[in-house]
Amino acid sequence: MKIQNHRLIADDGTPVRYVETPNKSGLMTPEYLVMHYTAGSSAEGSVSWMCNPAAKAAAHLVIGRDGSLTQLAPFNRVTWHAGKSEWEGRSGLNGFSIGIELDNAGKLERVGNRWISAVSKRAYPDDDVLVANHKHDRPGTPPIGWHEYSEAQLEVAAQVGLLLMEKYALKDVLGHEDIAPGRKADPGPAFPMASFRARLMGRADDEVDHYVTTSALNVRAGPGTEFAALPGSPLPAGTRVALLEQQGLWWRVDVLDTVSGVMDLVGWCHSRYIARGS
Ligand SMILES: [Zn+2]
Repeated sequence: MKIQNHRLIADDGTPVRYVETPNKSGLMTPEYLVMHYTAGSSAEGSVSWMCNPAAKAAAHLVIGRDGSLTQLAPFNRVTWHAGKSEWEGRSGLNGFSIGIELDNAGKLERVGNRWISAVSKRAYPDDDVLVANHKHDRPGTPPIGWHEYSEAQLEVAAQVGLLLMEKYALKDVLGHEDIAPGRKADPGPAFPMASFRARLMGRADDEVDHYVTTSALNVRAGPGTEFAALPGSPLPAGTRVALLEQQGLWWRVDVLDTVSGVMDLVGWCHSRYIARGS
């Protein structure tokens, strides 16, 4: 893929599917990438809603669960994806960010023995649901269900994200939840923000990225649950780790804290339970 005239073009030279939204305004210079979930039940439904003037909302791109892409506005036009928002003392991120919407049902409620979207009333199989707290939940808040993202969708999002970072020299990747905390929960805990951001931002060779675990987390001998948990596992929430290497969503980490008397623990963890340290 490449970007020409602020439009995505596939490798064979054909433009990516383009459906122009009315929910946009004037020109802007993008500085950030903002990730969202649609809270809808299909990419097609979300595209048509975001092209309806009544929605008063749209993002630049919608990515379906099969990785299909639809662009709704040129990347240098303001789209209405962020709403009331603030980052590093500046408000109104629509004016300087590109928004990507991922087809995902978002929050799911347990009703009987099923996971249900309060929006669409559709049920989702247990395998597609992560039970977790949101990072902005108050301590003691019961965890809820979050619709998992598909691998195809995350891979396409990363490829497009890398292109956008490079083309527009974007400063950072943010979640809607980061720029509108309390009001918005997307892309939520099922989105692997730490590894997504690490992949898009890269890092200087002389810089060590520091992270913390967000829940009890096993450190394993290899990148997968089939590998044995190492002595010292599970790491308690809040343990500091440094990223050494990535294989998909699995990270090889150096554990910086002494855990259960084990020092110099190095092994593999799932990055979903790791967040950027402050
Ligand atoms: Zn959003």
